[in-house]
Amino acid sequence: MHPRFLYFCCVNASIHITPSTGSRIDTVDFSNLAFGSTFSDHMFVCDYRDGQWQTPEIVPYAPMELSPAASVLHYGQAVFEGMKAFKDDEGSVWLFRPDQNAKRINKSAERLAIPQFPEALFLDGMKQLITLDKAWVKAGKGNSLYVRPFVFASQAGVQASAATEYRFMIICAPVSSYYGGEVRVKIADHYSRAPQGGTGYAKAAGNYGGQFYPTQLAKSEGYQQVIWTDAATHEYIEEAGTMNLFFRIGDTLITAPTSDSILDGVTRKSILDLATHLGLKTEVRMLRVAELIEASKSGTLLEIFGSGTAVVVQTIDGFGYKGEKFETPLPKNSFALMLKEKLMDIQYNNAEDPFHWRYKVCD
Ligand SMILES: *Cc1c(COP(=O)(O)O)cnc(C)c1O
Repeated sequence: MHPRFLYFCCVNASIHITPSTGSRIDTVDFSNLAFGSTFSDHMFVCDYRDGQWQTPEIVPYAPMELSPAASVLHYGQAVFEGMKAFKDDEGSVWLFRPDQNAKRINKSAERLAIPQFPEALFLDGMKQLITLDKAWVKAGKGNSLYVRPFVFASQAGVQASAATEYRFMIICAPVSSYYGGEVRVKIADHYSRAPQGGTGYAKAAGNYGGQFYPTQLAKSEGYQQVIWTDAATHEYIEEAGTMNLFFRIGDTLITAPTSDSILDGVTRKSILDLATHLGLKTEVRMLRVAELIEASKSGTLLEIFGSGTAVVVQTIDGFGYKGEKFETPLPKNSFALMLKEKLMDIQYNNAEDPFHWRYKVCD
């Protein structure tokens, strides 16, 4: 049986739905959306207690009650996911490889000692939620509904151990495009995002919290983001902390291998497959900062870009290392722009999908 079919015929727990009494959609200016700050009419909620997940619900989006002693507020036991729903020209709504996110949230959860959430319910809950809020998914390239599943420790109590009560939720935010303007990045030579043996491979809330201060410092030096290097030596490029990274040196596209300090991005692996499919040369290997600088100086470094759900592909216009600045202007025949175009064509159902990445939500 096709795996897509399997997910929907083995969900036992039926989802209890309380529809909102009216939609807020008419109050939203869709031509002027700040990323992730407007949310759709409904949310998915499922609590874990007494050793099991309780009846899942879809309810009107609203603030919720939480104990001041909730474990997540004290010990940061929380993981999340991010994906997008797209509307095609016929009005059908699609997700991009959501099975990968269903698996990854459980990989992240395991690292944070959070109970596993059933993959089938993750997918079915998301499908029903997006179907209910499908008017919030606007057609047109660049428009999408950003879907944010997350789990956190809701148990009240400040004992420093894994909680016994959790809440899994999904909220949705209509978005147009993430970053505007040019992006220059600072290569980290002091701060670290993720040590070996740490939580870097998990989408753990705290991984982000720890990046904000070094990123603020980089911003005060004129950069928009930080490129993280390995925590032990700062000699090897890892990732950008919300995006994986690609470097085009000569005719080859290079990206770091995933590890316990690098997040295994769905966009990253899709780009690797797509690039290979299009006949581009790719290498998955560690890249030294020294090699990058040498390639920049000798002119063989042609482009740098980041990959992630929010941006799909983000071109990077320059980088700095220990005060020295380097420019990477977009070349003619940019791999980044070409791969972004091809990937978005698949996401928006404007092109064939040889990899079976698209997943139908509703018509
Ligand atoms: C989410 C994330 C990415 C990008 O992953 P995608 O699956 O492509 O969205 C990259 N790095 C980090 C640290 C992330 O949290």
